[in-house]
Amino acid sequence: MEERKDFSDLEREVIDKGKCALCGGCVTTCRLLDLGYLSMDFSAERPVIGEGLQCPVNCGYCYYQCPRVEKLELREGVEEIYEVVSKDEEIKNACSDGGVVTSLLASALADALVEGAVTVADKEGAMPEVRIAMNKAGLIESAGGTYESAAALTGIADAILNYGLWSVAIVGTPCQMAAYEKMLVVGRSTHNAHNFSSVVRLRVGLFCEGKERDGCKICEDLTGRFSDLSVGSIGSPAGASTVIVHTDFGKEVFESARQWDFIDAKSLDPAGVDLIRQMQKEKKEAGKAEKERRKK
Ligand code: SF4
Ligand code: SF4
Ligand code: SF4
Repeated sequence: MEERKDFSDLEREVIDKGKCALCGGCVTTCRLLDLGYLSMDFSAERPVIGEGLQCPVNCGYCYYQCPRVEKLELREGVEEIYEVVSKDEEIKNACSDGGVVTSLLASALADALVEGAVTVADKEGAMPEVRIAMNKAGLIESAGGTYESAAALTGIADAILNYGLWSVAIVGTPCQMAAYEKMLVVGRSTHNAHNFSSVVRLRVGLFCEGKERDGCKICEDLTGRFSDLSVGSIGSPAGASTVIVHTDFGKEVFESARQWDFIDAKSLDPAGVDLIRQMQKEKKEAGKAEKERRKK
């Protein structure tokens, strides 16, 4: 029988090689998540095992869930691209980014498409905090958080264990969306007891141009292709956001938000579409080139 790999292999093959995206997937799926074995150290830019702790033999859930161990194929699917503004005055006034993500989530909550949303809120002088928002007020409090510096996926376990939710939305960077996709692909037999795969109903990816960290330099996804909806500013004028609909469920959420007057949308101008495609192409090529460079 092939020997199972474990956290030491994840360190050797991914983390120490500068490939870690800091997505938090390994922390979320760690078999001993509830005991706090594994956590993200954003200042050291790596996941770390608690001091003096030893992993159980033949575990390795973290290794097999890492999206940087074996690359997922980016799926092709529905791809409708819109220029969107929020129509909810309270959200618009509270959100400096225009409030489109907050409006989509508020609509999904109001329409009972999800019971809660995992979000990230910035905290002055401290690391961003992963939160569960259950209503519009909660969403507004966490609007505009820095997702690249928070293990947003750990909020899924929080939503299940501490809030008793069975249907949640998760917002995150493209690498966090890829990590969640990997959880679905690898399946329940290799992550801890929490039923992530059936609890996350809606995935909202945020465009990400990050390139400072080592793990970001090999990233090929600009828009979060493993999400139902992705949102960002590229291609749209100031005050509006670009929304890409990737799945049928994303379309349902989007149309519901339009119908209930949370958002106003029109097809994105062809120049905006071209800009997104160009930037996506450049990011993909840069990621691939960096991987090739590291092989040499
Ligand atoms: S999943 Fe298992 S091997 Fe990985 S860190 Fe957790 S306990 Fe250790
Ligand atoms: S890429 Fe994500 S899953 Fe892989 S080691 Fe880094 S934080 Fe963990
Ligand atoms: S560039 Fe963005 S999506 Fe890619 S690994 Fe970095 S934080 Fe994640």
